[in-house]
Amino acid sequence: MGGISRLFVVSRGEIAVRTIRAAQEMGITAIAAYSDADEDSLAVRLADESVNVGGAHAKKSYLNADALLAAAAQVDADAVHPGYGFLSENAAFARRVADAGLVWIGPDADTIEKMGDKARAIETAKAAGVPVVPGSDGLVADADAGVAAAETIGYPVLIKASAGGGGRGIRIARDPEELRSGIVAAQQEAEAAFGDGGVYLERFIARARHIEVQVLGDGVDAIHLFERDCSLQRRRQKIWEEAPAAVLDPAVREAICASAVDLARSVGYRGAGTVEYLYDADTHEFFFIEMNTRIQVEHPITEEICGVDLIAAMIRVCRGESLPWRQEDIRPRGHAIEVRINAEDPARGFLPAPGEITTLTWPLGPGVRVDSMAYAGYGIPPFYDSLIGKLIVWGEDRERALARLRRALHEIEIDAPATTLPFFGTLLEQDAIVANDVHTTWIEEWMEGQD
Ligand code: ADP
Ligand code: ADP
Ligand code: MG
Repeated sequence: MGGISRLFVVSRGEIAVRTIRAAQEMGITAIAAYSDADEDSLAVRLADESVNVGGAHAKKSYLNADALLAAAAQVDADAVHPGYGFLSENAAFARRVADAGLVWIGPDADTIEKMGDKARAIETAKAAGVPVVPGSDGLVADADAGVAAAETIGYPVLIKASAGGGGRGIRIARDPEELRSGIVAAQQEAEAAFGDGGVYLERFIARARHIEVQVLGDGVDAIHLFERDCSLQRRRQKIWEEAPAAVLDPAVREAICASAVDLARSVGYRGAGTVEYLYDADTHEFFFIEMNTRIQVEHPITEEICGVDLIAAMIRVCRGESLPWRQEDIRPRGHAIEVRINAEDPARGFLPAPGEITTLTWPLGPGVRVDSMAYAGYGIPPFYDSLIGKLIVWGEDRERALARLRRALHEIEIDAPATTLPFFGTLLEQDAIVANDVHTTWIEEWMEGQD
């Protein structure tokens, strides 16, 4: 596998910036891939070199494997970091990168295949002894098979696209009638959105918490870097994350983290990955839902409590080094919170709000970190995800992290068409959030009560 001296960063936005920073600190030349819409991006400004990979629409650039591979050859890259989204969990692309003689900063294509398909990943988890949500035992062929399976699962059930992600490809069915029509519609939608119509069923776990474990493997051994609580979501998309999950008692924490390591070891995992679970705070039961075989948006809160650089660690294990830490070296300290700054208007149903950022002042001071591609004068393009940055705070405990978040939100000034920042100020005033008494549909239920 050998060394890496020229890393091709094929993501965009804040994660491209984050990856470039890690590479440069390691003495690696960072080369940014950019689309026509991203010529003026911070990634292009910060990278050592950059190369245009095609049109503004992601299909022509960040999702265009041919264009990315041609550009990788042109810039003489020796490794590819996919970030998240786009082709980051695309096994065919990972295979082509490796076949071209480049190092893929992620697990090998076979592992992505095994874990990226959600129905298949559930089978792998079961085989590793990891508890899963009661469900259909694989894909459901048609509406009849679904209704039969739901009799034992119990309603409501979720119909989930096996190739889904980013909160998309999931719908609820409360009775057999809804399930029948839902399966047909979900199969068609999944075929159109992901090019794969496979769907499976899961019992809907009401008022659960989303808890996920960060793992890191070197292909032989694996460790965990503790867990994150990502229960504050809107439409099944995370908007506020914390580490550690303060709701867990030490025995449950140990069990859930151990199960994630068992799963990673069982597939000879290499790279950074996240094992996602739903957690029932009343019964203390946890259930595997999926594994993401890439770096996640909310990785910085783990970095803050563990004092590590996960992007650098990914690069190290993927260039052939063994794990940089033993499990006992990972000693979390304090509490970290991340809020996602999206170019969306909370006052107008979170409508995307691209456009120019005219003035920008980031918060500074102790325990504050911002991962973002935004700068004053930056034009947020309308073509991509609305995430423009993440505000991350660390405190000695959760209470102090909350106080720091409040202080940092007070310091931030972004003049842009709209951002989600004011929404976090409102959330911080809610007793349930201060008391950490929330679940995955808490925000939606609370918002319904507002109007
Ligand atoms: P994380 O899992 O890191 O918390 P998200 O679920 O928000 O973060 O996903 C990160 C990014 O990847 C988002 O831009 C999301 O839209 C995108 N994404 C994730 N999975 C898929 C998928 N299967 N298809 C398309 N986009 C995806
Ligand atoms: P994605 O691939 O889109 O990230 P996940 O399977 O991770 O999909 O689920 C996304 C979110 O949907 C979860 O964080 C949770 O809020 C909700 N969810 C998923 N499965 C269930 C379930 N069985 N019961 C209740 N909520 C669920
Ligand atoms: Mg998920």
